[in-house]
Amino acid sequence: MRHHLQGIGMTSQRTRDRLVERLSREGITSEAVLEAMREIPRHIFVDEALASRAYENTALPIGYGQTISQPYIVARMTEILLRDGPLRRVLEIGTGSGYQAAVLARLVAEVYTVERVDALQRKARRRFRELGLRNIRLKHCDGKLGWPGYAPFDGILATAAPVEIPPALLAQLAPGGRLVCPVGRRGGQRLVLVARTTQGFVEEVLEPVSFVPLMTGER
Ligand code: SAH
Repeated sequence: MRHHLQGIGMTSQRTRDRLVERLSREGITSEAVLEAMREIPRHIFVDEALASRAYENTALPIGYGQTISQPYIVARMTEILLRDGPLRRVLEIGTGSGYQAAVLARLVAEVYTVERVDALQRKARRRFRELGLRNIRLKHCDGKLGWPGYAPFDGILATAAPVEIPPALLAQLAPGGRLVCPVGRRGGQRLVLVARTTQGFVEEVLEPVSFVPLMTGER
């Protein structure tokens, strides 16, 4: 059990440290984000057959046509979300493997995460339990609708790309809050940061990215 969590060989702490060094070389500057990624064992979030590849800087399949995001992009989105200071309550759209939510759980007080594929979310829930992460709430639903019951959020992070930012997500952002979301069709997506001020929404278009599409409805 301990070995399973801590990892050995290709899944060891040393391998994790090397990934974090690489992220730092590639431009991730937030020490808090790097530390969280040093701590969370990514190999727990992929199937056993792929565990030896968990610390490569690459996206990996998690079933149902979905992928666990590339470590660099997890680090980058988290860093952008937290750039202007700590956040208390963060909503993630697209739980997937649960890895991004687990990283967030080390950095903010409360994580809320929604996923449309029930089977993926069940696995994620088990992983959070195994790692003793108790500040993550999960819900099986269409993430385009956000999670009105716990709104407003200080931060919202989407890990699947809509063609346009769903209005419900903007509505559930607290004043002073920040939303990070990949936007656009496959092949032409950009990362977008929206800050909600007392005057309204301020949008910043950042780098090109490649995410699975944000679907409509549950399955
Ligand atoms: N954050 C995940 C990335 C998973 S990929 C991780 O760290 O592993 C994106 C996820 O978004 C997929 O699991 C997909 O099923 C989910 N998704 C796509 N459209 C959705 C929607 N409308 N509502 C909720 N989840 C959605």
